[in-house]
Amino acid sequence: MIQLNNVTKSFGALQVLKGITGEVQKGEVVCLIGPSGSGKSTILRCLNGLEVYQGGQIHINGELVDATKPAIRQIRTRMAMVFQRFNLFPHRTALENVIEGPVHVKGENPKEAREYGAHLLERVGLGARKDYFPGQLSGGQMQRVAIARALAMRPEAILFDEPTSALDPELVGDVLDVMRSLAEEGMTMLVVTHEMGFARDVADRVLFLDGGVIVEQGKADAVLGAPQHPRTQDFLRRVL
Ligand code: ADP
Ligand code: MG
Repeated sequence: MIQLNNVTKSFGALQVLKGITGEVQKGEVVCLIGPSGSGKSTILRCLNGLEVYQGGQIHINGELVDATKPAIRQIRTRMAMVFQRFNLFPHRTALENVIEGPVHVKGENPKEAREYGAHLLERVGLGARKDYFPGQLSGGQMQRVAIARALAMRPEAILFDEPTSALDPELVGDVLDVMRSLAEEGMTMLVVTHEMGFARDVADRVLFLDGGVIVEQGKADAVLGAPQHPRTQDFLRRVL
């Protein structure tokens, strides 16, 4: 579903991605791990056209991602993104946040969008909070609203960028549980995370990125349990 072929990306003189090749197949959960500054967020942002890459190709279901073409908007609706900071509209309720994209970007019928939105909030455990404003919710609840908002676009895949990094430790579990249930239902997911337990339990494959290069990739058990490369070993020693 997602294919990167020798993707390079620079910010001015700084080359951040130095030839990234990898893929995420339909229904697969792939975790992208690596030190801060290694280029993880940049990969996600190139995938849905929030950043322009300079070399190589990215394809989504065979379609070339080109952030300079109008078709990128189509691709963005197919690849939802969940950020570390939830980016909810503060003056709209949970449900209003969830239906914003379907109604205003995709032109869905507001009544149907509300019904589906309420169903999605139930599904992330927030049925009783659909009329709350973000300021009345915990960080973990806000992140679950953000996941419901992503699902409301009926995406083909979801890109998660450290979805639990900004949360108090006791709130992390509820968010990971929602992500785990999405994985079980077959959602295609690319997840940047430092939650190694989640990666080990849920990911089909793990990519380890360091300095803009994928240093090691493979089955989650192999990369996390028996890493081959000294840089992967060193990273895992520090985060585990
Ligand atoms: P990660 O998500 O792995 O922490 P990022 O992809 O955010 O890493 O960043 C990779 C590198 O690119 C870092 O050195 C960062 O400072 C740099 N970078 C990211 N975004 C920009 C930008 N908009 N302009 C200049 N440099 C950037
Ligand atoms: Mg990042």
